[in-house]
Amino acid sequence: LALLFKVSRTTAINAYRHLEKLSYIHIRKGSGTYVRDKYALQVKSTEIPWPQLLKPYIQPSMATLMSELLVNNVGDDKISLDAGMPDPNYYPINVFNKLQVDFFPKLNPRDFGHIPVHGYQPLRHTITEMLGSEGVKCHCDDVIILSGSQQGLYLSARVLIEPGDYVIIQAPTYLGAIQVFQSLGARILSLPEGNSFPFEILEDYLTRYRPKLMYCIPSFHNPNGNTITIEDRKRLIQLAARYRLAILEDDPYSKLYYEDIPPLSLKALDTYGGVIYMSTFSKILMPGLRLGYMVAQPAFINRIILEKQYVDLHSSNISQWLLNLFITEGYLEKHLKKMRTIYKNRRNAMAEYLSYSLKAKLSFQVPKGGFYMWCKINERFSSTKLLQEALKVGVSFIPGEGFYSTSENNQELRLCFSQHNQKTIIEGISRLEKATGRLSKF
Ligand code: PMP
Repeated sequence: LALLFKVSRTTAINAYRHLEKLSYIHIRKGSGTYVRDKYALQVKSTEIPWPQLLKPYIQPSMATLMSELLVNNVGDDKISLDAGMPDPNYYPINVFNKLQVDFFPKLNPRDFGHIPVHGYQPLRHTITEMLGSEGVKCHCDDVIILSGSQQGLYLSARVLIEPGDYVIIQAPTYLGAIQVFQSLGARILSLPEGNSFPFEILEDYLTRYRPKLMYCIPSFHNPNGNTITIEDRKRLIQLAARYRLAILEDDPYSKLYYEDIPPLSLKALDTYGGVIYMSTFSKILMPGLRLGYMVAQPAFINRIILEKQYVDLHSSNISQWLLNLFITEGYLEKHLKKMRTIYKNRRNAMAEYLSYSLKAKLSFQVPKGGFYMWCKINERFSSTKLLQEALKVGVSFIPGEGFYSTSENNQELRLCFSQHNQKTIIEGISRLEKATGRLSKF
């Protein structure tokens, strides 16, 4: 390579290392360098060589492998305590059906055409009022409707992150966020979870690396269920304002509280215009609606509007009409009230049965909202090992390493209590106990 392109030997070696990192080649010591099979020229000369046309792809984190593991090994009667979803048995499908039957005849065929990228204006208005009641003062034009908050994550990262930029995350955190940041070439700075918010480490990162963005789930965190106190939220805003750090506040769970209402959002406390707030209807209603929203300063939202236009022109009008009716006719409040009681009972059942059957082997904290119980294994085996045994006895969960930017031999796991009734949850935990028992023997 060095001779061919007249570059130094070091440059050539670095180029090989880079290709290896991108998984295009693998280097066998003492043997040579090989193009990976999937990129090798195995195509017939008449076929288009897709691997050569695709641009370089940054290696996904462990999380992808994790979901493959779950799909491949799961039997029919398995109890899934993995995916963070609402219980489909409570999707308000009849109400949506009724709203649609009443509403569609009032529409003009033109209404089924395109709408502005920003979203359906009455829904933006409804959301602006909802945000106002939660202490976020904003104008309707500062709110954009998204096709789920995953889209907000991607669009925000796309307009902010250049390869090599630093992004601060809480560690552990939502794996979908880690993947987005890594896929855009961000360098991740992890804030470890502890008994209190790690302000010293944060300030050290801010002075040393000058990151542009911090990603944060302040209420009923995914995966660990923690909530940042009001005092720490205020301090975080002060620090972020001082260092001109943008904060991407991801808030899917704050309405799913089972004790007290969580503190004001970072956006409600935002004194410097640096908080980008996002929420979604996926957890409080149905993920299939594919609707979420974002509120931020006009300069940021206008750029997001441009980017969203490139991606999908706008989110589905049909979903937006029905959701707006669902909220304005009072169904959302009723639904939330019902779901809080249901999920609280499930959380209690999981916590009680875990304490009863696995107390010595797992430690955990009871979350005050959200969907997840974050557990630590007190014995010597890893959570991936436990998952292998658990799948054999018909229960699944997500091993902790999926929630970190670097994968290590991890002893944490996330159990989701939202999807099943108490009886199934108890059966799931007793299967987990069986799996743990098998490993403890060795
Ligand atoms: N953020 C967090 C913290 C989540 O848990 C999820 C869903 N697992 C999302 C974003 C994405 O949600 P959606 O795109 O369905 O709105």
